[in-house]
Amino acid sequence: MSEVVDPATGEVVGFVADTSVEEVDAAIARADAAFRHWREVAPGERARVLRRFAAVVDAHLEELARLEVRNCGHTIGNARWEAGNVRDVLDYYAGAPERLTGRQIPVPGGLDVTFHEPLGVVGVIVPWNFPMPIAAWGFAPALAAGNAVVLKPAELTPLTALRLTELAREAGVPDDVFTVLPGRGSVVGERFVTHPAVRKVCFTGSTEVGTRIMAGCAAQVKRLTLELGGKSANLVFADADLERAAATAPYAVFDNAGQDCCARSRILVQRPVYDRFLELLEPAVRALRVEDPARESAEMGPLISAAQRDRVAGYVDGATVAFTGSRPDGPGFWYAPTVLLADSVADRHWREEIFGPVVSVLPFDDEADAIRLANDTEYGLSGSIWTRDVGRAVRVARAVEAGNLSVNSHSSVRYWTPFGGMKRSGLGRELGPDALHAFTDVKNVFIATEE
Ligand code: NAP
Ligand code: MG
Repeated sequence: MSEVVDPATGEVVGFVADTSVEEVDAAIARADAAFRHWREVAPGERARVLRRFAAVVDAHLEELARLEVRNCGHTIGNARWEAGNVRDVLDYYAGAPERLTGRQIPVPGGLDVTFHEPLGVVGVIVPWNFPMPIAAWGFAPALAAGNAVVLKPAELTPLTALRLTELAREAGVPDDVFTVLPGRGSVVGERFVTHPAVRKVCFTGSTEVGTRIMAGCAAQVKRLTLELGGKSANLVFADADLERAAATAPYAVFDNAGQDCCARSRILVQRPVYDRFLELLEPAVRALRVEDPARESAEMGPLISAAQRDRVAGYVDGATVAFTGSRPDGPGFWYAPTVLLADSVADRHWREEIFGPVVSVLPFDDEADAIRLANDTEYGLSGSIWTRDVGRAVRVARAVEAGNLSVNSHSSVRYWTPFGGMKRSGLGRELGPDALHAFTDVKNVFIATEE
């Protein structure tokens, strides 16, 4: 049994049974059997089932959002977006089964065609920071392509995933095609890696665990998608709209209390506007509403756990604090938004992913310096570029080694577009028009026409 805790109060709100290895094996065997039928369901019917699933999620949007507020401390505004994202991703990939076309390739002596064949059972391993969207980015395209899915939510945040399987059933997703198996990473997640009937693992989480999963998958040449950590840069050039850059910077890093792999946790500001930027940033950070996440006005809630709060605090001890925002008193795992000045690029808080509401600021001299500093990290997930010079925006966007960049904005994840990391931030891409290719293998068939 694992306790489920409300991070805004520290109170236990429920218990969820951990799945044993034997139960995981039995669930994978059932999923494998269900896959044989699901892959044969006509594309139009698979599309209809996924659209119904989207509609049932939509009808339960508020319930799912409230559940996430209680289990994760997400602000109600964010949680509604997250539940809506599950619906939208299901709707988007509901269009895919009927469009999963292969190619006809001219060859001598016959007809050559390709098929995108489903893989079998896909294991999705989800972290605690965005339980609903990250689950859907795996299960929706996997199901659309004709695979069965077994999904392991994070131990801390299993509630919405469990509810989503009930909603799937209600929508007519056949039994055992989509199964949620709560429990420990070292038990359930590990078994997805070692079980030969699981043909692909979709992992989102830390670079440390992801690296071990990649090594484990190698033993079976198991397909793998990794979405890992980040230390993304927010580059502010002197010619930028400084007011907007400063007003939006807090949301780009403190959203979800900084527990976001795309958090712009390193702000780089061109030297001539460095002081002015900090002057503008301070009131924006102080004004951030850190409060009970169930309130409509909340902009930031608590951290997920006491352990995470202690980890975050460890990065601030001994660092140069420029200023902080507020946090409520009382129980719960609260941490005030904190702006640190980097004394050098060797500072731990400048180099390591903190995964909390802490941002580090550093000045830079010119474009080349900005690019060099932005790329001086093992990570490469996202980043922002603030400038009014179109040529510079394009040059810098091409030069920064990251999978998802935004100019004069902080957008990262849009389900229409590919999402994923360069370097140690990940492998492969999720979402966007090509996601089904990551859940299928190409089969080439040649049919002789010569007598
Ligand atoms: P984590 O420890 O890597 O855990 C992620 C998931 O993997 C959890 O479900 C966890 O289960 C499971 N797991 C742990 N050990 C495992 C093993 N040996 N085999 C298989 N599965 C295992 O990361 P976290 O603590 O949840 O999240 C924080 C980190 O994730 C941060 O570094 C953050 O950057 C990264 N992250 C990246 C993205 C992205 O999209 N790139 C998104 C979210 C988070 P338990 O719940 O039992 O630990
Ligand atoms: Mg962990």
